[in-house]
Amino acid sequence: MNDRNGTINHVVTRFAPSPTGFMHVGGVRTALFAWLFARKHGGTFILRIEDTDKAREVGGSIEHIIESLKWLGIEWDEGPDIGGPHAPYIQSERLDSYRKYARLLIEKGFAYSDPYTEEEVEAFRKQAETEKRAFLYRDHRPNVTEAWDGTKPLRFKVPAIKRYVWNDLVRGELSAGEEALDDFILIKSDGYPTYNFAHIIDDHEMGVSHIVRADEFIASTPKFLSLYDALEITPPLFATMPPILGPDGKHKLSKRDGAKDILDYRKEGYLPEALVNFLAFLGWNPGDEREVLSIAELTDAFSFDHIQKAGAKFNEEKLRWFNHEHLKRLPDTDFTAHLTAFMVEFGFDTSTYLGKIASLLKERSQTLLEAAEAVRAGDFSFCEEIIIVPSQELLLKSAKADAATVKTHLKHVSELLVKISDDAFTADVVKDSIFGYATEQGRSAVLWPMRVALSGKEKSPDPFILSALIGKEKTLARIAAAQEILR
Ligand code: GLU
Repeated sequence: MNDRNGTINHVVTRFAPSPTGFMHVGGVRTALFAWLFARKHGGTFILRIEDTDKAREVGGSIEHIIESLKWLGIEWDEGPDIGGPHAPYIQSERLDSYRKYARLLIEKGFAYSDPYTEEEVEAFRKQAETEKRAFLYRDHRPNVTEAWDGTKPLRFKVPAIKRYVWNDLVRGELSAGEEALDDFILIKSDGYPTYNFAHIIDDHEMGVSHIVRADEFIASTPKFLSLYDALEITPPLFATMPPILGPDGKHKLSKRDGAKDILDYRKEGYLPEALVNFLAFLGWNPGDEREVLSIAELTDAFSFDHIQKAGAKFNEEKLRWFNHEHLKRLPDTDFTAHLTAFMVEFGFDTSTYLGKIASLLKERSQTLLEAAEAVRAGDFSFCEEIIIVPSQELLLKSAKADAATVKTHLKHVSELLVKISDDAFTADVVKDSIFGYATEQGRSAVLWPMRVALSGKEKSPDPFILSALIGKEKTLARIAAAQEILR
């Protein structure tokens, strides 16, 4: 909250989406920055639903917003689902509060009932056009105003037509002249307040200290400031986010560039931590070389100082990179848990050997979806089978040796492997035990057939990893079976 000297005692930020559809990267990034800032300063983060434009509302959006934020781990301290000291947190349930402030403005002489019909306003507009000047409501303030009965729009009467200069925590000093000020609508004829009015009242009542929002609101800031003046409210501090640009860096990100529902990323197998990490880097950096950061590290490093003014380019390749980095860093057990949950949720058959191949899958997949698809395609099914029967042709394909020689090598490999105890049967130990022999005899003649014997496939991980993966018993059984095939 802002005290009279402008010092902040307690950081309060909010995310205030309108329920007009799904959450896209821009909205989520705004939420993320507001949340990181609150968390960093031990403050409060509020979720508030701005549903005063009933014509634009899309059913199910509120649930969707909540689900998206929760999936990403962005949790609020006050909000529509959990309540809080300033409840309700849905604007359509706060109409009494807006009426109270509307009456206050009327009493102070800063609001009037708009007397004009649509036709009259249209005539004013045409007249301004002919005279080549901007159309402003404040040029048409009625001399005598009727009492406001709620059936007509209630308009703000700008108290002073002047130039406004303000400081933005990201953009620095900003200013706008008189042309940016007008008698805007506070309450529409349908009884709902406008965004311009409602958010100011709510931010004030909810003790918001910092407004984190998109750059489309800069143009309206003088209007907001004139309303703060009329209400004698100290405005919160403003932090304007850089726009998110399409991959060409020239225009704002659109659906065509891949701006989509944030929950689609869940279906595509992205980890929420990776998406959060990626979003944080859309216009921000920690001020050092680090890129792969956990949520705790992001919170720790976060400040408005390192948010850039210029637009940030959206690049889905970079998101895949972040995801791969986060997947690789997961301990095998966590990776397996994530992958299993993903496979169950999206209808893949899970298999009992997932845990064993976790480290392989992590290295090879950029997303959980890729890992799930590899498992479904049977890329790792050789782990489950006991005996596999590769063809002689494949066993010899790159061995550069004849069947009899390869057969001898496989026999010798078995004799070496049998000496390793069951629990010591790791990739390193297997490698140590046979690598000397393979080097001496020709690696392709020993290791190629061994690998094919174990996997049955032309391509697979190396034979040491495979041995450890399937265990001593299956390894020996498969090498024995391959010897039978060779004639
Ligand atoms: N309801 C506005 C929007 O969804 C929020 C703007 C703000 O954060 O003040 O764009």
